[in-house]
Amino acid sequence: MSVSAAIENFRKELPQNVTLIAVSKTKPISLIQEAYETGQRDFGENKVQELVEKQEVLPDDIRWHMIGHLQRNKVKYIAPFVHLIHGVDSLRLLKEINKQGAKINRCIPVLLQVHVSQEDTKFGFDSNELKEAINECNVLEWIKPCGLMGMATFTSDLNQVAREFQGLKGLFDQYQSNFGENPTLSMGMSGDYKVAIDQGSTMIRIGSSLFGSR
Ligand SMILES: *Cc1c(COP(=O)(O)O)cnc(C)c1O
Repeated sequence: MSVSAAIENFRKELPQNVTLIAVSKTKPISLIQEAYETGQRDFGENKVQELVEKQEVLPDDIRWHMIGHLQRNKVKYIAPFVHLIHGVDSLRLLKEINKQGAKINRCIPVLLQVHVSQEDTKFGFDSNELKEAINECNVLEWIKPCGLMGMATFTSDLNQVAREFQGLKGLFDQYQSNFGENPTLSMGMSGDYKVAIDQGSTMIRIGSSLFGSR
């Protein structure tokens, strides 16, 4: 299936309040352009250098989402333009984003990543750390906390995936008043987005189902 057909299919299927992020990591400019021409504006990348290179050559009205693990020394490269940083998983990273925002007078939108999976390899705050991070957001002037992000365990057990997403939604509801006018819950990828939407996701990050496997 072509990228444009795949995107149209998602649009038909998704509830109105769910935003589709087209995850274009490792994919060429030409495919992103094809998606753009269907009206797609939200794109996700997980590597800073690739994100910057693509941003430089693609249209200015694309909303770029940094969805991967972000190193502190690279925040400065994306601070001027990034639409949303999904993977904020430490206070030190939060402080660095604040520092870069202050330098350029830009309040930077972020999602706090919560560790809900059973895999140690995945990043994110536990529920105590999350509380601390939210308190920190309230004193950091150049951070705009917009919501939460999480990744479920990579498993075929969809009941487990649903339980993990449900836990994340519970935390999201608990802290929603801290997340501004449009609270965002970023959960769901190609393999589990349906479960995620059932559990209250407002933003799904889809790569392989749009662009093919990597
Ligand atoms: C790659 C990636 C996705 C998209 O994964 P697919 O399974 O290809 O849809 C979503 N979220 C994050 C954080 C990713 O790194």
